Amino acid sequence: MILELSAEQEAFKSSVEQFARDVVAPRAAGIDESGEYPLDVIRAAAGRGLLGVTMPTAWGGAGRDYISYVLAIEAIARASATVAVALSINNSLVAELIVHAGRAPQKEQWLRKLATGDAIGAFALSEPDAGTDAANQRTRAVRSDRGYRISGRKVWVANADAASVAIVFACTRPGRRGQGVTAFLVPMDAPGVTRIARADSLGVRGLGCQDLELDVQVSDDHVLGPVDQGFPLAMWALRGGRIAIAAQALGIGEASLAEAIAYAKQREVFGQPIANYQAIQWMIADMATELAAARMLTLKAAAAKERQERSMADASMAKLAASEAAHKAADKAMQILASAGYRRGSTVERLFRDVRATEIYQGTSEAQRMIIAANILANA
Ligand SMILES: Cc1cc2nc3c(=O)[nH]c(=O)nc-3n(C[C@H](O)[C@H](O)[C@H](O)COP(=O)(O)OP(=O)(O)OC[C@H]3O[C@@H](n4cnc5c(N)ncnc54)[C@H](O)[C@@H]3O)c2cc1C
Repeated sequence: MILELSAEQEAFKSSVEQFARDVVAPRAAGIDESGEYPLDVIRAAAGRGLLGVTMPTAWGGAGRDYISYVLAIEAIARASATVAVALSINNSLVAELIVHAGRAPQKEQWLRKLATGDAIGAFALSEPDAGTDAANQRTRAVRSDRGYRISGRKVWVANADAASVAIVFACTRPGRRGQGVTAFLVPMDAPGVTRIARADSLGVRGLGCQDLELDVQVSDDHVLGPVDQGFPLAMWALRGGRIAIAAQALGIGEASLAEAIAYAKQREVFGQPIANYQAIQWMIADMATELAAARMLTLKAAAAKERQERSMADASMAKLAASEAAHKAADKAMQILASAGYRRGSTVERLFRDVRATEIYQGTSEAQRMIIAANILANA
């Protein structure tokens, strides 16, 4: 088994790392503090091909493979977890889904704009009573001779502060759950789309999360993919999204490890650097080992996605392992820095808050375990 990046993947990784160091990292603390959506940084990322990493070049994307995408999200997340997840939503949950399921005019209308940052995409699946149970859609799309009237409420719609288009999921066949949901491409400036509440959050602040009230008329041209088949499309998109969140978690975990190592080498207690103490060394060893194991799963899931293998479990394993390894890494970094980490405004304090969301969004850790177990038991 050869585990080596190609020269092209290495070069792309280096260029994203440089962008992350020069452009993203200097902004990370400010984004966290203000909670403002960093539209200028997101648009700058477009210049590096980071808004449509795997999108075909014919549509204005960078046309790269899924491993490259993972490397990019990981590198950006080392600098800012918020910017990484904002990019991943535009890529995995919106652009990739339009490439996968969109009709030619829909691709024409949105893909180039999404790749250049002229349009930002959002993904509106969650509702007050449809989080883990995402098939329990209460938003209704009722058919008429003018198309569909969509009415309901969506919550935690990331990127919504700046988004021009949202993929909105709505029930078109009551009682059919996952077989009765349709996906719609809804322009955010359409009459009847109202941003009703901006979510304040513990971490990944500045993600532009809004709750949306919908009472909007759309034509048939706005239906994305087959009618009543929106739920499988959401799950298709979330597979890529979960691989990206695994990469995001790895980036946060690595940043935590780097902070811990730097501090352990310079902080002297009882007359010597704390890095000399075995208690600290073992924490660093565990952090590095668990992140390395999670990275293998993440790259494996990305490679499987690139080969268009169908399994959902690879992505769930990657997200579960990476988010839990990163959570532990941020926790141990906090322990190693002690009061210096616990201080409001320290980098480790931000990482500690940011990492928690990776175990919640795009399916909680419990949801990932449900998917993995169902897959194992079905194939046993
Ligand atoms: C920062 C942030 C950004 C987000 N961005 C988006 C977005 O862009 N678009 C979007 O659509 N959504 C988004 N979400 C919503 C997110 O996907 C949901 O919060 C998530 O799916 C969990 O749903 P919930 O919060 O309603 O929890 P619930 O579903 O209410 O779950 C509560 C608890 O019960 C557990 N649980 C539920 N069912 C079971 C079960 N059968 N067995 C065992 N345990 C179970 C869960 O794991 C959890 O621990 C975002 C959330 C956050 C925090």
